[in-house]
Order: sequence, then structure tokens, then C-alpha cells
Amino acid sequence: MSNSSIKTQLPKSKITGLNWIAGRWVAGEAGKQEVRSPYNGELIGEVSTPTVAQVNEAIEAAGRAFVEWSQTPIKERSKVLVQFRAILLRDQDEITHLKSAESGKTFDEAKAGLMKGVEVLDFALSLQNLDLGGKLEVSRGVSCEFRREPLGVIANITPFNFPAMVPMWTIPIALALGNSYIWKPSDKTPLTALRIAEALKEAGLPAGVFTVLHGGGQTVNAIIDHPLVKAVGFVGSTKIAKLVYQRGTALGKRVLALGGAKNHIVLLPDANPDLAGTGISDSFTGCAGQRCMAASVLLAVGDVDRHVEKIVARASSLKLGPDMGAIITKAQVEFLHAAISRAEKAGAKILLDGRKAKAPADLDGGNWLGPTILDWVKPGSEASTDELFGPIISIIRCKDISEAMKIEAASEYGNACSVFTSNGPLAERVAREATAGMVGVNVGVPVPREPFSFGGIGASKFGHGDITGHHSLDFWTNIKKITVKWEKQNDSNWMS
Ligand code: NAD
Repeated sequence: MSNSSIKTQLPKSKITGLNWIAGRWVAGEAGKQEVRSPYNGELIGEVSTPTVAQVNEAIEAAGRAFVEWSQTPIKERSKVLVQFRAILLRDQDEITHLKSAESGKTFDEAKAGLMKGVEVLDFALSLQNLDLGGKLEVSRGVSCEFRREPLGVIANITPFNFPAMVPMWTIPIALALGNSYIWKPSDKTPLTALRIAEALKEAGLPAGVFTVLHGGGQTVNAIIDHPLVKAVGFVGSTKIAKLVYQRGTALGKRVLALGGAKNHIVLLPDANPDLAGTGISDSFTGCAGQRCMAASVLLAVGDVDRHVEKIVARASSLKLGPDMGAIITKAQVEFLHAAISRAEKAGAKILLDGRKAKAPADLDGGNWLGPTILDWVKPGSEASTDELFGPIISIIRCKDISEAMKIEAASEYGNACSVFTSNGPLAERVAREATAGMVGVNVGVPVPREPFSFGGIGASKFGHGDITGHHSLDFWTNIKKITVKWEKQNDSNWMS
């Protein structure tokens, strides 16, 4: 796009995306999927999707590659990841343009997501020195040792809204631990995956250790069903997370499926006005509200009108395009418009109506909705309970903190809950009583940074453990225990 109002450069010509199988680019024979930029609706790419037979061939190649990769010492595996890191940093702008173009994120948000992925890579690189296993003499002449062993072929299925960051939650850790990795990127944002596969190839990852397969439900089901696939990670909507979890666990597989969210912010009158105004506005407008950690319900306790005014002022100042990215599809824009109308009918007062916001002329064909603030939303109504996934915040007025926490606890989801206050004990009360898995104090998007792990509770996560940090290590490995004796001891019993 020339003379564009945004930093993002859209691809100059249509990208044709193939599947990365056994170290080769392979055309999928099942069908084709178009990729249109949410910024202007332009066709920027097309990927071909594999047949079930092609998925099976890819997984079998990954199984063969696993034999050598799993026997490669972690220090050598880490050397490949060091190269991968250098390539990602070298090509960060190019990758950022592509992921921004296909997802509609602003360039800066897209860059930040990639850098968060690099943080996970740094964590994975620390494993070679820190995750040593352990050994102890448990009785005279008998030692016990535990070793972490890779599972084999593992798979990850990722959503559209973080084309690099969410995949990077698992790619470096699962590879460092010695697994062969199958990635099924979102069918809406499959192009970033091509660059990541190229970067791993250039880094020297052996053929077959990393695979990219495009498509939707058919590809995912074929991956889950293949007997060589030992574990499945999934990040996406709750509806699909549940399907993937049920299918995988019915086959006796390990599944960790992260789902959708409806995140709450408790706003108390004593909050620092600058922290609250910026933190809350940026949380619901960032990524145009298409973050699983985005603020969605503001539990306004007591008289917080001066804070609400600041939130409205900051959100109103955002320009569609340069400051706030686009919505992933036209259908989603229509859904959001209709949801705002339904909220209005249900009694909400619109403080800021994003339907009226206009994008710059060069982005006319894009999918746009400006920040929308709904006040006096009723608990139990759609705007208070359902994940809408757009730049919309629903304010529910609460007489006290107990009422606010009751509303938070009634949510089926449990990803994030934040509180804005200057009062330490009240912040601690929210942290203790929140039913969400990730809590923020004066932080609008409380994403834990490495080495702390990422994961919600309730309908935001199916399966045990978290997807990053220390808690992810047990998911991608088996722990083998080895008990050793070399000589008979006089005082030995059946356990020694
Ligand atoms: P989605 O559930 O539509 O898609 C996720 C993945 O599932 C994609 O790869 C898609 O191709 C695949 N898929 C689609 N239909 C399928 C089917 N029938 N069977 C199996 N797989 C199928 O999600 P999305 O719209 O891409 O992403 C947005 C959602 O993801 C939101 O709900 C958001 O909250 C959630 N999300 C959650 C987290 C988290 O950490 N909890 C992080 C990011 C996004």
C-alpha cells in the first residue's frame, strides 16, 4: 500500500502458501483458503490445505525425524534455537509487516507480540542449564533419578489473533525438550507460519522436526486422530477448545485447550486516575479488543465517574488504522454492530459509539469498529456475559466490592481479572476472591511474563497445567524415574 496512513506494508503481490512437510514445501490437495487483509479487504494470500492422507504422511515423517532429534543432546538442540532467535530478530520488521497485514493488528502491537514470543524462546534456552532433572541416594546403595523425556510427535492449533506470539508459547519449549512439532495455524492468519518455518529451516532444524499444515476442522481432526500424535495444545474459542479436548482425551491423549474469555476489571473510587484511565482504555481497545486478555466488563464500584470520563476521553482519541487495528472479518464487524444494538435495546446507555468511527480513506475497504463504551449494562445480559471479541467494554454499576466480586464469580470464563485501586488490602481481596487464573493490580492486561506461566480457569481452559513457563514442561514431556542398585546390602528390604 503506498502513501498509507498506517506503518504496516501489505505484501506487494499475493503470497501462495504451501504446507511444510518433511523439510519441503508441499501443495495441499484438499482445497484452497484465501487470506484477505482486514485493513482493506485486499487478497494478500492463498494457502492450499492438505488431504487426510497428506496429514498422515506429514505426521509419519515427523515421527521418523523424532528418533534423531530426541536423541540429540539438549545443548545441541538449543544451538538451533539460538540461531532461530537471531533470525527472528534480524527479520523482525518483515515478519511484523506480514502478521500485521494478515491479522489487522497495528504494526506496534504485532511487533510486541513477536517480541513476547522471543521471551518464551529465551525461557526455552534456559532449560539446557536449569532443567537438570535430579538424583538422590534414597537408601543405602540405591539411587533414584528422574529424567525428562520428550513425548514424540506433538501438535499445536492456534487462533487468528496472535499469529506469532501464541505459536511461540509452545514452539521453542516443545522443540527444546526434544519433540517433533506439528503446527496448524489459524485458517484466517496462516501466512506468518510460512516465515517461521523458513526461519527454523535456516536455523538448521532437521527436516521433519517442524511441520506446518493448513486448513480448519478437517486438518485438526486428522492430526488429533493420528496414533503418533501424543499431545495436543490448542488455543482458540471455547466452543472449539471443548471439541478438541473431548476428541483428544477420548483417544487417551494429553490435551491442553485454552478457550475464550470474558475479563473483568474492578474499578474502585480510590484508583490512580492516570493508571486507570490509560490501563482500562488500552486494555479494551488494544488489538481492537481481539485479545483473550482484553478488558470486557468494567465493574464500577461506587462513584467512579471521573475515572470513566478519562477512559472515554482516551478511547475517543484513538484513530482507526494508525492507533487501533482492524477487526478480523466483515462478518465479525456485523456481529459486533448487532451486539451493540441488542445491548442498547436491553437498556445500556452508549457513552461512546464505535459504529460511528471512520477509518482513513485508503482503508475504506477494511473491517472497522471504533472503541465502544456501554454503561449501565445489566448483569446477566449478553453484553455482560458473552465473549464479543471486539473493542467494546460493558460497564456494570456496583454498590460495593462484594457485589462486583459476585458478578465476576458468576462468569463461566476465568482468564483475567484486574483491580484498579490505591488500597493494598482491597487489591489483595480481589486477588484472593477472583475466579480468574490471571489477576492484575493496576494492570489492564495481566499477562504473566516468563518464567511465570499463562493459563486461565473454567471455560477458558480445558486440561491441566499452563501452556508456558515451568508448568508447561510436564505437559510436553514424560518424567521417567530410574532406581538403581549395584550391590546387595545387608539391610535391604523390598523397596531397597
Ligand atoms: P477459533 O476457535 O475459531 O479457531 C482456533 C483454531 O481452531 C484455528 O486454528 C481454527 O482453524 C481451528 N478450527 C476452526 N474450526 C475448527 C473445528 N471445527 N475443529 C477443530 N479446529 C477448528 O478461534 P479464533 O477465532 O481463531 O480465535 C479467537 C478466540 O481464541 C477467542 O475466543 C479468544 O478468546 C481465543 N483465544 C484464547 C486465548 C487464551 O490464551 N485463552 C488466546 C488467544 C485467543
